[in-house]
Amino acid sequence: MSAAGIVVAGAGQAGFQLAASLREGGFREPITLVGDETALPYQRPPLSKAYLAGKTDREGLFLRQPGFFAEHAITHRPGIRAVAIDRAVRRLHLADGDSLAYDHLVLATGARNRPLPVPGADLGGVHQLRGLADADALQAEIAAARAIVVVGAGFIGLEFAAVAAARGLPVTVIEAADRPMARAVSAEMGAFFRGAHEAMGVRFAFGAGVTAILGRDGRATGIALADGTELPADLVLIGIGVLPNRDLALDADLPADDGVRVDAFLATPDPSISAIGDCSRFPSPFAHGLSADGTVRIESVQNAIDQGRCLAARLLGKPAPYGALPWFWSDQGPHKLQIAGLSGPGDASVVRGSGDAFSVFRFRDGRLSAVESVDRAGDHMIARRLLAAGTPLTPDQAADPGFDLKALALGRT
Ligand code: FAD
Ligand code: NAP
Repeated sequence: MSAAGIVVAGAGQAGFQLAASLREGGFREPITLVGDETALPYQRPPLSKAYLAGKTDREGLFLRQPGFFAEHAITHRPGIRAVAIDRAVRRLHLADGDSLAYDHLVLATGARNRPLPVPGADLGGVHQLRGLADADALQAEIAAARAIVVVGAGFIGLEFAAVAAARGLPVTVIEAADRPMARAVSAEMGAFFRGAHEAMGVRFAFGAGVTAILGRDGRATGIALADGTELPADLVLIGIGVLPNRDLALDADLPADDGVRVDAFLATPDPSISAIGDCSRFPSPFAHGLSADGTVRIESVQNAIDQGRCLAARLLGKPAPYGALPWFWSDQGPHKLQIAGLSGPGDASVVRGSGDAFSVFRFRDGRLSAVESVDRAGDHMIARRLLAAGTPLTPDQAADPGFDLKALALGRT
């Protein structure tokens, strides 16, 4: 590698992890992290949980304190956007006119919120939540809100609804599907979380489409639904999913659709460019039957960290295909949801446990595909072992409370 070293576009979870793992592994060439946000690299999960609830301050979000970057010779260039890649001469162009030479370029640009294409979406009081600036803007208005509407019963919408409900604020969640987290969890787990939120005072409208956000004097006053219903709202949070930031790749003629296309080693077809984290679409051993070509794009901290580590190992001369087991969590009010593996809409469900603490074991083509646990941390850890090792488990075994899953996971049966 020449003195140009590694340049990373995107200073979020994945980009930071790559830089840190490279230095940990003894990488000596320059590393430059270019990020369009102004803050130090930070973790996003608390933005819709502890930070929003006022239980963690700004400092608690940073992945490392400022001194770390100088101590590890990582150049962090905050507040600057990468705008174009010149692959022929291996340079990354920045929005201020500067450009950076690279030996290897890493796209770690994450994802952005999907916009809600209805009139009024730009009114005051209408929010989305991706970054620290969004969380601060939301935080500033939540205390004075009188009627809150959340569009989208996904992770952001439900985590926010739980925080708002805990403050005694009236919250209605509008969802296009017929249940919460329809794409991410089983009908059984969706039904549990619906009940849990309703017990917290959250109201739902399922199968509902938003046609407009109503306003007066530039601020939201309500929301109009496709069936003609109008709901009052002075604070609206839109959480209807994300789109991968793939433009740098597309403009440089690299393949990208729902994510920047990479191989099992996280490499694009250009050997000098890789992509990791929320923006990358990659082949996964856990994606069988989920997509026609066996690739997925995953939006999670685990995936961002593990892909950062995997790519660092390759750049340090120890290549290995990316095969980390996907896992996720979500804190909603008093409940912790944990998911291991990747489920599909047609997967069969087997429930283990009951009441407020149970797990749903999902099976695809007779094979364990995922396990969703609510307040059963033990099941989650066992599931991670079983899925990572590909240990066979039958639906009958999963359903049998007397069957020793832990022994199976530890290879003691
Ligand atoms: P990001 O962390 O988004 O980082 C990408 C960075 O690149 C951003 O700073 C972006 O602004 C920057 N960028 C984009 N384009 C450019 C450019 N052209 N030039 C320069 N910089 C650019 N996951 C979980 O597993 N558990 C959770 O509980 C959880 N909670 C979440 C809560 C919230 C509110 C949000 C928003 C996400 C949550 N996630 C959670 C998802 C998780 O945070 C993401 O999957 C993770 O941050 C992905 O890391 P990344 O580095 O790929 O992308
Ligand atoms: P999400 O989890 O994908 O959920 C979006 C929800 O909005 C889905 O249920 C979706 O339904 C619904 N929806 C889509 N279009 C709609 C419309 N026009 N009207 C009403 N509902 C609509 O995405 P998110 O909650 O916005 O989260 C954004 C990102 O942050 C994701 O990357 C997510 O993984 C991440 N995040 C993760 C966590 C966590 O892991 N704990 C927490 C917060 C955020 P369909 O599926 O039917 O389209």
